[in-house]
Amino acid sequence: MGFFSADCVHCAHPLLSTYASNEINAWMMHAVAITANGSVLVGQYDGYGRIGEIQVPDFPRATCWHYECWQRAGSPAEYRGPSTLSADQGFFFTTEHDVSADEAFDAGGTSPPGN
Ligand SMILES: [Zn+2]
Repeated sequence: MGFFSADCVHCAHPLLSTYASNEINAWMMHAVAITANGSVLVGQYDGYGRIGEIQVPDFPRATCWHYECWQRAGSPAEYRGPSTLSADQGFFFTTEHDVSADEAFDAGGTSPPGN
């Protein structure tokens, strides 16, 4: 199976595979996944549905965040439904994800801080 990923529920950039990130977007491989039954997994995304070397159960249904976005939003632990699966699989892109965590968070709008 090839790479796959999900878009962060806040900023809509994908969780990036550790094999695809660069210096600017390295923060996008630090991921949080909240499963439908409420488990919260935090760690590095590997591009194959694993976070911190743990296979996320039912990854396509998980609520996914970048760790940086999740922290800025106040670390909400509740399940918010499935994240959109990434059109570029978190791997096949050029410069569209070359943004800092601050820029991406400010541009995202679904989870204002303190919500
Ligand atoms: Zn994000």
